[in-house]
Amino acid sequence: MAGGSAIRGSRVGAGPMGESERGESAPRVRVVFWCAKRHDTPIAFAHDVEVPETWDCPRCGLPAGQDEQNPPPPPRNEPYKTHLAYVRERRTDADGDALLEEALSKLRARRGA
Ligand SMILES: [Zn+2]
Repeated sequence: MAGGSAIRGSRVGAGPMGESERGESAPRVRVVFWCAKRHDTPIAFAHDVEVPETWDCPRCGLPAGQDEQNPPPPPRNEPYKTHLAYVRERRTDADGDALLEEALSKLRARRGA
């Protein structure tokens, strides 16, 4: 078991770093995505990869499309209201106070104050 074999086995004949970039021969598809704020995001896809219709803009997070003149509209920020939200909305503040008062009085009664 010689100590030198491990060293000799690593990267013999490998070129300097960066060579793989220049020598890349795989065809690529360069697609530019545009978001509603006109940020351009060029993405290089491998030719055998299906190019998505939209891409999230890395700068603002909005969806970006391939049509510069007609980028996808930004999504609405208001989240869907849950059923509970509707219930809360219907209930007035006065109702809420009354419920709170009722709960407090029950609590006081239970404590026997
Ligand atoms: Zn953007």
